[in-house]
Amino acid sequence: MSGVPRYGHARAPSNPALPLPVFVDSAEISMKAGDGGRGAVSFRREKYVPKGGPDGGNGGDGGSVIALADENVHTLLDFRGVHNWEAQHGEPGGAKDCSGRAGTDLVLRLPGGTMILDAATGDTIVDLAPGDRVVVARGGRGGFGNAHFRSSTNQAPQRAEPGAPGEARAVRLELKLIADAGLIGMPNAGKSTLLAAITRATPKIGDYPFTTLSPQLGIASLGPSRRIVIADIPGLIEGAAQGAGLGHAFLRHVERTRVLVHLLDAAPPDGSDPADNYRTVRAELEAYSPLLAEKPEIIALNKLDLVPDAGQRARLVKALRARLRLGAREPLLALSGAARIGTGELLEALWGLLHPKGEAAGAWSA
Ligand code: GDP
Ligand code: MG
Repeated sequence: MSGVPRYGHARAPSNPALPLPVFVDSAEISMKAGDGGRGAVSFRREKYVPKGGPDGGNGGDGGSVIALADENVHTLLDFRGVHNWEAQHGEPGGAKDCSGRAGTDLVLRLPGGTMILDAATGDTIVDLAPGDRVVVARGGRGGFGNAHFRSSTNQAPQRAEPGAPGEARAVRLELKLIADAGLIGMPNAGKSTLLAAITRATPKIGDYPFTTLSPQLGIASLGPSRRIVIADIPGLIEGAAQGAGLGHAFLRHVERTRVLVHLLDAAPPDGSDPADNYRTVRAELEAYSPLLAEKPEIIALNKLDLVPDAGQRARLVKALRARLRLGAREPLLALSGAARIGTGELLEALWGLLHPKGEAAGAWSA
């Protein structure tokens, strides 16, 4: 291999004035607060009281749409598929001074840091900080019933109010994402394929200079509250073919990932050895970014669908373990991104590294 680090320029001048590149997860939704209930027109009808007074109750207030920063929510995935979010209407008032029941608020559980923007103007409505609970669309007030309008001059008002309409808003949610995990490996190790196989959303990249290689980002979901943001970290060789390298801005972003997945092609078409390829990538990574090279790493032997025989697969894994001098407790995952074999274990292993307390035992295969 050439001495050029694949992961960028080894002696990059760092420029703190550059904006930190961000990945932006976004969703467009409309929200509608509940309408207020109508006030009632009603008169008391009791035995022996021929002309009772007005007793029409007020309508209930409509529910509001509330944005809540929830520390268990990390992405906007829940808002990508569902476009309409409506709070409940207030119920109408009734006879006998019965007020209508208020509509229930609709609480949108959003990650802290979400920006709520007006979809039409782009103006910021709410910049949701952790812990915030903010009304974004206010419910309509319930209308007064006719009992409210009784006065000395009008003992039998026929008048009641309709409820006020709840606020309606079309908004755009935006969340700046930091990748939790980075995928590294030789060109053609299967990084892009794996990312596509394990993630179900690819946020667009904001504030990112497109003269450079475009990094890919995906959100893997392990369940309703377990999500991992994964970045494909392409190398310089891949970019060189397109006349571009990785930008320093992107480097500064991926340096904030906490875990690396190092993909090794089990049977590289060029006949190269997976252990040699591992060392090449590691050496280049160290030259490019010592900070990135220090991150905990999960090594995965990929494309094992090409080795249909289980015995041979096991031998390959064992041989590679020996060549990489992995200790008994150091994991080497058996994987096929294309066939989605071992991807569940990989995600659990990543989750375990990212959230050590809840680590599940036996997540490693091989
Ligand atoms: P990248 O350069 O690391 O992003 O690699 P790609 O994801 O682009 O994959 C390179 C080539 O390997 C493509 O032709 C893929 O179809 C193929 N490939 C990727 N993953 C697998 C796998 O798990 N099994 C097999 N058989 N082929 C794969
Ligand atoms: Mg790729």
